[in-house]
Order: sequence, then structure tokens, then C-alpha cells
Amino acid sequence: MSLVDDFIIKIFQEYIQHRIAYEFNNIEVGKIAVTIVNILLNSKFPLSDDKIAMNVNISITDVRKILQILYRLGIVSLSRETSMTQPRYDYKWSLTKEQVKKHIFTIIQQVLSKLVRIVKYLSSTTLYYCPTCFSRYTIDEVYEFNFECPLDNTPLVQIDLDKELNFLTNLINNIKELLQSQGMGEIHE
Ligand SMILES: [Zn+2]
Repeated sequence: MSLVDDFIIKIFQEYIQHRIAYEFNNIEVGKIAVTIVNILLNSKFPLSDDKIAMNVNISITDVRKILQILYRLGIVSLSRETSMTQPRYDYKWSLTKEQVKKHIFTIIQQVLSKLVRIVKYLSSTTLYYCPTCFSRYTIDEVYEFNFECPLDNTPLVQIDLDKELNFLTNLINNIKELLQSQGMGEIHE
């Protein structure tokens, strides 16, 4: 496990806690979901829901509800095995560190695409602001208001976006480098 991997697992646990808490509108359930994904990550084999429930202090029904949401979100895998003891199938859950990594990088790529879109928008836009009330105006509004703030008649000033654009462009390049160093360099812009 590299430092990057440790970091990714931590981000993943945070993500799971918030996502599941949101899904159930309950912070405690978010924490239980983190326990469940940790159990799956530390197991070398896929686990049945009753095995998982034995290690979590809630009913198997609630464990199943959480697992089903995790499955629906594409986070955990479900496999079907022939039961050793009964004439039915056993359903087993699993989650690998590779899956966690892929999941986090998908989220990072979505954020990256958004950043790229923001940079494209900012590069092609001229924005103005009012030095008195700090309202922002687009170029169309500026013409409409005759280069004066409609709220206080202050002459409007063009915003210098170079700093923001430089910052965002650097951020994008850093994220791209991180993705490439992890073998996940395919960015769809
Ligand atoms: Zn103003």
C-alpha cells in the first residue's frame, strides 16, 4: 500500500459516510456503511450478508439495506455461489482496493471535466464588477446598464480573470499529473 493508496482509502471512507448518510438521511447509518466497506476491504474472500452482520452491531435487514444501496451506487460487487448446505444460491459481497481506486478516480475525473468547462467559460467571457457593492455583471448586462451599476450608479470595472485562470489551469494540470502517475490518465474533456 502506497501513501497515495492510503489517502485514496481515506477519501473513499469520507465519501461513503456522506453519501450513505445522505441516502438514508441518517449520520449513524453513514458510519455503519464505512464499517461495512472496511470489513469487505479487509476480507480476502467475498462475504455473505449474515457474515457481515455478525461484525456490525445492527440487524441483518439493515445490513442488507445498506449493501443494496452500495450495490446500486456501483460501489460493491455481488456474486452468486452454489450453497454448500442448502439447495439455493449464496449471495456474497465484495470490494477490492482496485475498485475503490477506480471509483475515486471516476469522481476526480468528473470534477476535472467541470473545472475544464469553467476555464473554457472564463477564458471566453468578460466580466465586470461594481467597486461599490461588488455585484458582478456580464458584458451584455454592462451594455444594458450603460457601464454603470444599476444599484448605485458606480462606473463598472472589468474583472481581471488571469489570476483565477492561472490558478485553475495549474490545478487542472496537477490533477492530470496525479491521474497519469496512477495509470488513470484518460481525461474526457
Ligand atoms: Zn454597485
